[in-house]
Amino acid sequence: MGSIPEDAELSGRYDIVVIGGGPGGYAAALYGAAAGLSIAVIEKEKVGGTCLHRGCIPAKELLETASVFRTVAGAKEFGVQAAQPSVDLAVSMDRKRRVVDQLHRGLEGLMRSRRITIVAGTGQLLDSRIVAVTDPDGNVSRLSGRHVILASGSVPRTIPGFEPDGRLVLTSDEVLELASIPPSVVVVGGGAIGCEFASMLADLGSQVTLLEALPGLLPGCDPDVAEVVVKSFRRRGIQVHTGVTVHGHEPNGHGTTVRFGDGKHVDVDSVVVSVGRRAFSDGLLGEGTGVRLDGRGFVEVDEWMRTGAEHVFAVGDLVATPQLAHVGFAEGILVVKQILEEPAVPVSYGAVPWCIYCHPEVAFVGMTEEGARAAGHDVIVKKDPYGGNGRARIVGETEGMVKVICERRPDGRAGRLLGVHMVGPWVTEQLGQAYLSVNWEATPDEIAQYIQPHPTLSETFGETVLALTGRGLHVG
Ligand code: FAD
Repeated sequence: MGSIPEDAELSGRYDIVVIGGGPGGYAAALYGAAAGLSIAVIEKEKVGGTCLHRGCIPAKELLETASVFRTVAGAKEFGVQAAQPSVDLAVSMDRKRRVVDQLHRGLEGLMRSRRITIVAGTGQLLDSRIVAVTDPDGNVSRLSGRHVILASGSVPRTIPGFEPDGRLVLTSDEVLELASIPPSVVVVGGGAIGCEFASMLADLGSQVTLLEALPGLLPGCDPDVAEVVVKSFRRRGIQVHTGVTVHGHEPNGHGTTVRFGDGKHVDVDSVVVSVGRRAFSDGLLGEGTGVRLDGRGFVEVDEWMRTGAEHVFAVGDLVATPQLAHVGFAEGILVVKQILEEPAVPVSYGAVPWCIYCHPEVAFVGMTEEGARAAGHDVIVKKDPYGGNGRARIVGETEGMVKVICERRPDGRAGRLLGVHMVGPWVTEQLGQAYLSVNWEATPDEIAQYIQPHPTLSETFGETVLALTGRGLHVG
């Protein structure tokens, strides 16, 4: 953004001006508008942000394509005769676009129906809660807010020597727009997004090598859960290398040779770089706003999402909290509650839900067993595999388990739930009750009062908790 003319017209005054229309920004806007506040959202591309256009939604839509492929490929086991499936990626991408477009139109319509002003352009915070907006034609105007929320999100991080070119080197942005499935790929980074892409590309026919610098995949997950994913990936032909550093790559005519670890290399058609995301604060702040960035470019906030400038808040991927759309929602709501002077509680980051949509799926909330012990808790741990679950047998997806970590009470019995970790079929849809249990600080005795419908996958959580009362039905 060039310099902002001092005399640019003041084109509107609002209760809240939001810079960035992704989950953090639009959640604040929808929640605030529902409470009667006047709100402008400045968005340089499309409302919905990374999540809707280059993240959660398109990624999960393509993972669903992979799941349909697996189902059809395994149909014979059910006596359903179907030819060996193949993927027409153009059709898959078309469907993905339709899903995204429908949700985008719905979100825009909802925002307009709540009288939220969507301003097309790039926002920059000046001082005194004035925001300059440069529209796509280069015209500059200014908006004034009683409060300003910074929500400009994040962009993929890259590594030196792996500059994305859309062919040999891809970030998530390019993977979600592929014209064809590369016959072979290296995925650099075994975090949530790296594992989702490795899983999806392997299902759709790529020969996948997954490289992770840390000792295990899915850092932050309970190691028992990550182990199930590693075993499953290896069974499906994904080459998993952990504890290895990537040294660079050399194009070799048709693809590229990636060097990693101790003198190893692999020839592939493309490299997917999935090493996290950096906060997008480029050009966001004018001179002397009082908003501070930390060493990594995240906007510094306190637990109430307040920046160093009065009445200026920051939410979502722009701040150093878990980079999840629903965390952005929660932070946006937290800010608006304060603006409305309503009772509010800071987000409890140690107990937010995490869902990873690779195959098998992963979902967890709260402390890992290791983390709970390191925090000084005496714990009781129970694990129950999906192999004993009737519905899992019916759908033919028996790998995985539920692991529940409880605090040990003085009488030796299992007390409040500290963490629940799931891996297996549709666990992302089963986490809800575990999330509530952990956040309600419920005990197995309390949760076991409630009935799980039969036959469901969620019975495994119920069984694990029942076993923690000392009287399991099917689990000892
Ligand atoms: P963003 O969504 O990045 O939105 C920021 C918006 O601000 C953008 O629209 C941008 O155009 C706009 N903007 C930036 N600067 C300016 C400016 N100066 N002026 C005007 N507009 C500006 N999270 C989950 O919870 N679940 C998932 O399954 C999941 N899957 C993911 C899969 C992938 C491949 C990726 C990349 C991410 C995934 N995420 C997932 C993370 C999720 O997408 C982000 O946490 C979320 O989008 C962050 O929301 P945000 O509002 O902070 O920022």
